[in-house]
Amino acid sequence: MKSLTCSTIKLAALCVSALLCMNAAMAQTPEPAVSVVFAGDIMLEGGPDRAIRRGHDPFAGVAHLFKGADIRLGNLECVVATVGSVEPEKPNVFRVHPRGLKFVKRHFDAVGLANNHSGDYGPQAFAQMLGLLKQSGLGYYGGGHDLKEAHKPHILERQGLRIAILGYDEFQPRNFEADHDRPGVAWSEDEQVVRDIKDARRVWNADVVIPVMHWGWEEPIANARQRALARLMIDAGADAVIGGHPHQLQDTDQYKGKPIFYSLGNFVFEGFPDKVNNVAWVVRLSVDRQGVRAWKAHRVDIDKQGLPHAAKRAIQEITLR
Ligand SMILES: [Zn+2]
Repeated sequence: MKSLTCSTIKLAALCVSALLCMNAAMAQTPEPAVSVVFAGDIMLEGGPDRAIRRGHDPFAGVAHLFKGADIRLGNLECVVATVGSVEPEKPNVFRVHPRGLKFVKRHFDAVGLANNHSGDYGPQAFAQMLGLLKQSGLGYYGGGHDLKEAHKPHILERQGLRIAILGYDEFQPRNFEADHDRPGVAWSEDEQVVRDIKDARRVWNADVVIPVMHWGWEEPIANARQRALARLMIDAGADAVIGGHPHQLQDTDQYKGKPIFYSLGNFVFEGFPDKVNNVAWVVRLSVDRQGVRAWKAHRVDIDKQGLPHAAKRAIQEITLR
């Protein structure tokens, strides 16, 4: 009995030291990080489409910013379709031929649809775009065949990490919003956004949740509404907030250690004479189970044809932990 007790104690001691060794080893080898790249507004009509018709890849000048990234995302600020009828009385309507999708697919994994142009040619064109994206092997978020799909997170799994991307528009017109029986975009009603973020973890088992917003005025500094909603989303469990729509860069922010990019600006977009609208950011987040570990912003300059060109070096690099 005595020897049994003795060997039990020895075994227990061995187990404890083995566990300590394992813990030490785990502490030394940090969890692998997944890189997620975000770009601003992709509007392929005009100059970019003319380049595409010549067989030119409109993303050629920024291709290296996406190369090697685990996940690549951007906001598709036009409807890709051949059908549909123009929204009456809406200024600036954008529809582009599907021929450019092969280039989008070359550089992106999924695109955001929650914006004030994806519905420019009505629900029929929007539905055709969903089919074309699927055919091209591109994912999408912030839009869908119905309200439920529009609010469903787009899950991308890399190295065992499940990353949920949500998308919302809050820039008029609201009639682009999906309904129970109509395709369209997700609108950012606060309560629903909070529920979606929580569900991304609870229902969809996401490790990381990133909402992408279409919001704000065409100004360099984010407004009070953007600041309040970003905080609400982070309080609900978002790991970062990515924004767009103001057609220019806006400030960045940090809340509870989570980064907020209020606007990444334009990305592929023709028709802005002012310099401020032709400077953008492509942001690369490094994420793990605890959220964003670090981020890096690359400056992009957009030429007269609306095509982006990357600056030589990253202009800002922030390590959060
Ligand atoms: Zn917009």
